[in-house]
Amino acid sequence: MEHKSLIGHDGAVHEGLLNSHTGFLIDVACDAGRYSVVHHYERLDPARVTDAPLSCPACVAVSPHTAGPLHRGRLALRYAEDVLARADSRGYPPALDDEGLRLAFVALAVEDPPSRRLYALIREHLADMLTDRALAAPEGIPQVLVPYTRYTGGTVQAPVGPGDRLMRDGVASGHFPIVRVEAVKESPTSVTVTVREKDWHPFTWSARELGRYFFKLDRAPLPAAER
Ligand SMILES: [Zn+2]
Repeated sequence: MEHKSLIGHDGAVHEGLLNSHTGFLIDVACDAGRYSVVHHYERLDPARVTDAPLSCPACVAVSPHTAGPLHRGRLALRYAEDVLARADSRGYPPALDDEGLRLAFVALAVEDPPSRRLYALIREHLADMLTDRALAAPEGIPQVLVPYTRYTGGTVQAPVGPGDRLMRDGVASGHFPIVRVEAVKESPTSVTVTVREKDWHPFTWSARELGRYFFKLDRAPLPAAER
C-alpha cells in the first residue's frame, strides 16, 4: 500500500491510499471517498499529487500522530491479517473477491463486519501480504524466477522453491494444470526444477523452460497438521 497526499476536487489535501504496484487510487483515509479526488472512469491525474501537508481535517484526524479514530488503511490491515490467518489455518489461500471476503468475515464471526467500502483496501493489503510471501526467496537453493501476478494488478518475477504451486500457461492448449514444485537442483551445466501435477509422475524442466511456461500461484502454507 502506498500513501500519497492528493488535492481533492474541494481543494483540500487528502491522504490517498494507492496500489503500490499499479498506482491505482483505492481510497482516501477519510470518509470522503475516492471520488473526492478522481472522477468516475478516470485515472488519478498526476497533477493532483502534492508534497503539501494534509489539510483535510478528517484525514489529519486519523494520522498516526493523533489519538483519533483508526486510520482506514490500518483498520483494513487488521481485517486482512485476520482473513489471512484463517486461510493459513485451513491450508489454502484466501479468496480475494467480495463474496470471498464477506464469507471470511462470516466464518470469523466478526462482531462488527467491515463495510463493503473497506473491501478494496482489505484486498490490497492481502495482495501485498501474498506478494511478500511469493517473493520470499527460499534459502539454500538456486534461483529460478517465474512471473507472479498480483491479484490487484502488477506482475513481478518471483523465486521458485519446493512447495510452491505453479500454473502452466495453457493459452495454446486450453489446459491450465496446477503443479507443485518438488525440487530445484543445480548441476555444473544447468538448473532444473521438478514439478508434479496431482496423480501424475514428476516432470523435470530446465529453469529457462519453467520461466517460459509457468507462472507462480502462491507459496501455499502447509496444512496445520503438517507444520
Ligand atoms: Zn480527507
